[in-house]
Amino acid sequence: MVSTVRMGMPSSRRCDRAQDMPVEGPLVDRYGRVHDDLRLSVTDRCNLRCVYCMPMEGMSFLPRAEVLSFEEILRVAGVARRLGVRAVRITGGEPLVRRGICDLVARIAALGFTDVALTTNGILLAPLAADLAGAGLQRVNVSCDSLRSDRFAAIRRRGTLDVVLDAMTAAESAGLTPLKVNVVLLRGENDDEVTDFAAFARETGRVVRFIEYMPLDAQGAWDRAQLVPGREVLERIGEIWPLEAVADPGSPAPAHRYRFADGKGEVGIIASVTEPFCGTCNRLRLTADGAIRNCLFSDAEHPVRDVLRGGGSDADVELLLRRAVWGKLPGHGINEPGFLRPARSMSMIGG
Ligand code: SAM
Ligand code: SF4
Repeated sequence: MVSTVRMGMPSSRRCDRAQDMPVEGPLVDRYGRVHDDLRLSVTDRCNLRCVYCMPMEGMSFLPRAEVLSFEEILRVAGVARRLGVRAVRITGGEPLVRRGICDLVARIAALGFTDVALTTNGILLAPLAADLAGAGLQRVNVSCDSLRSDRFAAIRRRGTLDVVLDAMTAAESAGLTPLKVNVVLLRGENDDEVTDFAAFARETGRVVRFIEYMPLDAQGAWDRAQLVPGREVLERIGEIWPLEAVADPGSPAPAHRYRFADGKGEVGIIASVTEPFCGTCNRLRLTADGAIRNCLFSDAEHPVRDVLRGGGSDADVELLLRRAVWGKLPGHGINEPGFLRPARSMSMIGG
């Protein structure tokens, strides 16, 4: 059940009469949710093969000609910026495998977003951290699902834990802070590391965010029995180190934040499946091949690449963005009987 309306729409605002969709002001949907956070997927390729995301073999990737150029990404980002989008997160696939990523970051940052962040698996981060910070990147989220080398190898299937831990240190030295660590928990695989990760958060000051396994793996193997509910994670940590919710009223952020009662650090819970936060969702996404999506779990895509490559104007891009946001459903419906997982998986959409 969706509850929120973050911001109403003045009744005097100009509308597209066919749909009552506003054609000026911020990007707003039918439920009053203002969209000011853009996820930019810059590639669907990746140098890892995490079990919850991609198969070990046989993943097919977009032909290069279908992937947006830097200029095309920047045009969409620029229009979004003018429509009030203030935060941008660069993701993928693995964004750091895109050639010229520092240049792209610099050009995105120059558009004037107040928050410029990137999510990475960390494998290529250490040597790039200083250049990314110099380009205007403000902070990174590094994914790391185990603090044990053998487990890391079993879950991520390529790359090594020590490289990722070194990357976290390099990112902090470059000023890419606060550093957040994304952990997808899988029952029977790494859920016995919940308190190890909590200890890690306390020792390092990094914000560890526990993410529920979502039905977005490319193999279609998602099984609810493997999902570790956010509530359980909180209880297990709280038995050792009491936690206090960090008051963040009306925050659209997906993570519920909790600080350790003794003041030593913070963890986050992203309970997308068991406690959906659709009511405050402020995000829209651009896929690497130029589709605007208003929800990770929806199949509706708005092909902005066709507009860009068909000679469309910025006003045409704006109209497409407005229509994409206006068409957003109140919730993702994962827990409803008729839910069908989207045709595209997490790495193809941009997580
Ligand atoms: N490759 C980068 C990385 O791994 O951080 C960025 C893209 S990845 C798709 C973004 C985030 O989505 C990562 O934190 C990853 O762990 C998470 N993710 C991928 N598949 C998921 C799934 N099926 N359920 C929950 N989270 C998932
Ligand atoms: Fe690659 Fe990130 Fe997916 Fe892992 S989660 S396979 S690192 S895109």
